[in-house]
Amino acid sequence: MFTAFLIKYAEIGVKGKNRYLFEDALVQQIKYALKRCEGEFKVHKTQGRIYVDALTDFDFDETVDNLKTVFGISGICPVVYVEDEGFEKLCDTVVKYIADVYPEKNKTFKVMARRARKNYPLDSMEINREMGGAILDAYPEMHVDVHNPDIVLNIEIREKIYIYSEIIPGPGGMPIGTAGKAMLLLSGGIDSPVAGYMIAKRGVKIDAVYFHAPPYTSERAKQKVVDLAKLVSRYTGPIYLHVINFTDIQLYIYEKCPHEELTIIMRRLMMKIAEHIAKETECLGLITGESIGQVASQTMHSLAATNEVCTMPVYRPLIGFDKQEIVEVAEKINTYETSILPYEDCCTIFVAKHPVTKPNLNMIKKHEKNLEEKIDELVKTALETDELIIVQCDK
Ligand code: ATP
Ligand code: MG
Repeated sequence: MFTAFLIKYAEIGVKGKNRYLFEDALVQQIKYALKRCEGEFKVHKTQGRIYVDALTDFDFDETVDNLKTVFGISGICPVVYVEDEGFEKLCDTVVKYIADVYPEKNKTFKVMARRARKNYPLDSMEINREMGGAILDAYPEMHVDVHNPDIVLNIEIREKIYIYSEIIPGPGGMPIGTAGKAMLLLSGGIDSPVAGYMIAKRGVKIDAVYFHAPPYTSERAKQKVVDLAKLVSRYTGPIYLHVINFTDIQLYIYEKCPHEELTIIMRRLMMKIAEHIAKETECLGLITGESIGQVASQTMHSLAATNEVCTMPVYRPLIGFDKQEIVEVAEKINTYETSILPYEDCCTIFVAKHPVTKPNLNMIKKHEKNLEEKIDELVKTALETDELIIVQCDK
């Protein structure tokens, strides 16, 4: 019965003169999400509102699920369009609408009419009153409550007449493409996909880098990262994923540096390389899935030591999250099941039994001097052999 959706957006409504940029970005992202759905749609802006019109048959649940992945949408209202065939006919249609949408009639309601076209014979107040009466006649168990109704029946008089009453919550946030781009350090774990999702939610486009250490990390581990990027790209649009071969760098650190400092030194190199790629690809920041105290390499001391190699801002949206809170988001965005697949991670293979939890930056720098001979060459090779995979979700 529904033939369209009215798209509600909250924050982007208040951006003054830039408003149209935000709306255009939102329209573009909606179109991108709808490509995954069966049916054809027209997305249009009319009088400060965004509508999705179905031009063919479509699958309601699939369409709503995909609209729920578009940042910037605060609510999705399924709409019934009808031709203007007089007020009596409209009342019949609304009575039938209630029968279809609300099988349980023991509810309060109010009618909220709006006229975008002033030549309609009744004004808004009259529509509210007369239609309210018609509904009460049809369903005596229903009651009017103008202050806190269960159902708000919106009737918009435009060229056609729009009827809607349900609001399905959207993901909120800002449309992708309204806030620049950042480079996500994406591992196969639970945290980094969630971190990418959270920054993307603020309108940031995402590129990603994964440090791969074959043969210590398998092809399956790499495929898992590609799969995670695919899941995240449902929300973010296509992701340019850089796969960096990190094996020789890791082996070199393993050979030259104290083992309790391996993780920190390795993380410093990851950040350095990620920043290098980020600068070349016009990213404005790095994103990691770190959270204070989660593991030895994420104590305040360790984070300070890792951060010290970067000049770019490093965004750590999970910094104050407990694991359980991160898992909840991972489940919501459907990355959790993939993240917990048991494939090895390059960090866990080279991890020391007793990693430092309070690294001393001077000591770290001193030990990094042991790498001077070959590290620049190894980093250069790693960057030159960067494998770029463009990831996008198909369904
Ligand atoms: P995650 O669940 O995201 O893997 P984690 O709890 O395992 O995180 P660490 O392994 O210490 O934590 O990694 C911290 C962060 O460093 C990750 O969230 C991710 O952003 C980045 N990172 C770690 N390993 C890699 C990797 N192999 N490639 C790219 N980024 C990585
Ligand atoms: Mg990890």
